Amino acid sequence: MFFSFRNQVIVLTTLVLTLAVGCVGSLNSQDSLPKLGIPIDCNLGEDCFIMLYVDREPSSEAKDFSCGRQTYDGHKGTDFAISDLEVAQEGVPVLAAASGTVLRVRDGIPDDLVDSPEERQAIAARECGNGIVIDHGNGWETQYCHLRNGSIAVKPGMTIDKGAVLGMVGASGLASFPHVHITVRHQQKIIDPFGGVDNTSGCDIDNQNSLWDESLTYTPTGLIRAGFAATPPNQTELWQGKYKDTQLPRNIPALLFWVQAYGVLQGDVEKWQLTSPSGEVVLNRDNILDKSYRSWIGYSGTRRIASGVWQGKYQLWRGNKLIFEVKKDVRVL
Ligand SMILES: [Zn+2]
Repeated sequence: MFFSFRNQVIVLTTLVLTLAVGCVGSLNSQDSLPKLGIPIDCNLGEDCFIMLYVDREPSSEAKDFSCGRQTYDGHKGTDFAISDLEVAQEGVPVLAAASGTVLRVRDGIPDDLVDSPEERQAIAARECGNGIVIDHGNGWETQYCHLRNGSIAVKPGMTIDKGAVLGMVGASGLASFPHVHITVRHQQKIIDPFGGVDNTSGCDIDNQNSLWDESLTYTPTGLIRAGFAATPPNQTELWQGKYKDTQLPRNIPALLFWVQAYGVLQGDVEKWQLTSPSGEVVLNRDNILDKSYRSWIGYSGTRRIASGVWQGKYQLWRGNKLIFEVKKDVRVL
């Protein structure tokens, strides 16, 4: 007997910046700011990804700089995410995007994943969680949010170089997934680093004025993780790092192959395949997504569980374009 489930949640992250206000300079050009390095020590597209961008739509709609939906209304920064809190615990450094002077820091906020309105309320006025504000001169500031509790490695007044370790990626404050949120401000005004100082709203922009020191590929859809479970996983469990098993006992109620992804769109087609230890394809199913989701879990599986190595294969298609695919094995004992 085959069966499948779907599940989704809305991803929350910080939108309120509650740390310090910096000095105001007199220049009104991004020439006064050195290009920004990415604020996280990882390889984008391999072990980290950009989950959400600055909201460039002044209305209550939300659009990222490429007119996509990987943002939410009022989101003031760029979210560089990692797969889960276990990886955060191992330690992924948050880096200064440019040299400057540390203005303010806050530490001591736990890395609780915010999942409910009550939890959101409880973190009011501390949405940034453990954070740092750096003054880069000439009215430029960067702010870093959601660092791991106890990991802040700098103090106010310290002069730091570009790339200096500020602390570790976490999920403190208003965060439902482990990431570092970076906000860029020029003379108190929010700047989208993908648009530059003079291009703060509207979308479908060219990136000639990007503040990043490298060309960042816009990747609004991608794999976060995939694996196997005996019971349906939820988003919070996956962000916590659960269901990494490469072996499962045979007496489980079901064998579920799960995939966690970001930025799936209505009309995307999922192709699920599950192959038994004897090589039989026991599940071969297409699923058309009926809605778009910034964060998504799908799973599909069987109750007829034989011992041996099972293989799950998943593809996400948009029209005739393969967006990504993933294969995973699990040994049933
Ligand atoms: Zn954010």
